[in-house]
Amino acid sequence: MMASDIHHRTQDFIKLYPVVLRDLKEVYGTQASDVLITVSSGTGALEAATSNFFSKGDKVVVCCAGKFGERWVELASAYGLNAVVLKAEYGDAVSPGRVETALKENPDARGVMFQASETSTGAAHDVKAIAEITREAGALCIVDAITGLGTMPLDIDGWGLDIVVGGSQKAFMIPPGLAFISVSPKAWEMNQTANLPRLYFDLKREKKMAAKGESSWTPNTSLILALAEALKYIKEIGMDKLVENAQLLARATRLAALELGLELFAPNSPSASVTAIRAPKGMDSGEIVKGFRNQFGSVIANGQGTMKGQIFRIAHLGYFDFADLFAMVAELELILHTKGLPVKFGRGVAAVQNVYAESALAKETVPA
Ligand SMILES: *Cc1c(COP(=O)(O)O)cnc(C)c1O
Repeated sequence: MMASDIHHRTQDFIKLYPVVLRDLKEVYGTQASDVLITVSSGTGALEAATSNFFSKGDKVVVCCAGKFGERWVELASAYGLNAVVLKAEYGDAVSPGRVETALKENPDARGVMFQASETSTGAAHDVKAIAEITREAGALCIVDAITGLGTMPLDIDGWGLDIVVGGSQKAFMIPPGLAFISVSPKAWEMNQTANLPRLYFDLKREKKMAAKGESSWTPNTSLILALAEALKYIKEIGMDKLVENAQLLARATRLAALELGLELFAPNSPSASVTAIRAPKGMDSGEIVKGFRNQFGSVIANGQGTMKGQIFRIAHLGYFDFADLFAMVAELELILHTKGLPVKFGRGVAAVQNVYAESALAKETVPA
């Protein structure tokens, strides 16, 4: 990132950017789609997904299972789309069956928007099944995979995922400020007639510039450089291994929580990006978050919105590994003990150790 004193309209940048775009496409695992970069946080690319493929008044089905689902609803409303909203209780996911029914009742729906992983609740959607139903209905399948990429399998070409949004600060392991968006041929076709207003996030313009090895606007070159390195790292370990790592950590965390007598917030369709756990009865989850920070310098997240105080969330994205999780669960045991809960030290940690010992990862060496 310290090499960022390059100008974005010079050969220095034009040599770098196509390599980054190519590696990003490889890590996304698509041949058919273009993968573009927006200079924004994740929401910028969600906005691009909303504004580039529809016209005013177009109907879309929006799955809303948490704070990020609510963001899709807000975006659809801001752009004058006619949103059929499928709401799920916090902690639940919208079932593919509900999407199917909604598309039957609304055959004019032009798109389906949902989260692969709803980070606010720790629930995951069945991306493959929803995509299949969406494709059969002829609608555009738009996935906020900002915490899905790198934590769950996403077969863009095989499953027919038309738009897949990612973000730099999640499993890509670099600071916030870049977002990614894959665009399928079917989405480009819809783009030709889509008349919603757009300028900064005009993806057709972005594609044209990308073909010349440039970005539309001044990019945050430090982050492009960071992304180049992160992508090299992901390619070295393999995207499937990154996903497997997150899945194992998530499973181990769930087992540890249950061993400690805690309740999972999204037990039926847990995501591998983050595990949301209910605070013990009578305890504010903020106290657990504070315990991690103050006693151990560890960072976990509280709930958002009305979930604040109710749940705490442990992430599994990117650089996290078992060494982190051994410590996190040991810390959790100590924090609960400090709060007067009857914790048997080591029970949660043993659950994590068991998952590690059983996993293939234990037999492999981790790249430096
Ligand atoms: C983090 C996140 C976003 C993006 O939020 P930004 O603050 O705009 O980066 C969107 N959706 C999900 C599911 C996320 O986890």
